[in-house]
Amino acid sequence: MPEQIIEGGCTCRAVRYRMIGKPLFVHCCHCRWCQRETGASFALNAMIEADRVELTNGDVVVIDTPSNSGKGQKISRCPTCQVALWSNYAGAGDSVKFVRVGTLDDPDRVPPDIHIFTSSKQPWVVLAPDVPAVPEYYSRSKYWPTESIERQRKLVR
Ligand SMILES: [Zn+2]
Ligand SMILES: [Zn+2]
Repeated sequence: MPEQIIEGGCTCRAVRYRMIGKPLFVHCCHCRWCQRETGASFALNAMIEADRVELTNGDVVVIDTPSNSGKGQKISRCPTCQVALWSNYAGAGDSVKFVRVGTLDDPDRVPPDIHIFTSSKQPWVVLAPDVPAVPEYYSRSKYWPTESIERQRKLVR
């Protein structure tokens, strides 16, 4: 089966990219930091190997931004309209991009694999019972599919 390719980009269309293959895992994060950054109720991030995200038009600016962990994150934004396209966190380093699912042209194809930090979930958000949900963070070995753990293992830190 050919790998799925989903295109995405910013609002002004100066930056366009494509995500090649299935994400390793998709986080729906309900932490207060993600709520503030999105101006909404949660962030939806598809974790994928950095080399599986290819720019097809334009380039991004990388903005150092504080993060919940205290170790910081680098947010890649369109230099023109400033929409955030993906982040790199200190934990996974440059080898894994956290693609903001809402910037994909077809975000419906990338639903969450887990809800995290539900301890600060906004009370009106009702979660589907068939998707795992944890009050804070989780153990990768417990939730990730074997295939994703193996892909992740191959990454050079
Ligand atoms: Zn733009
Ligand atoms: Zn968060």
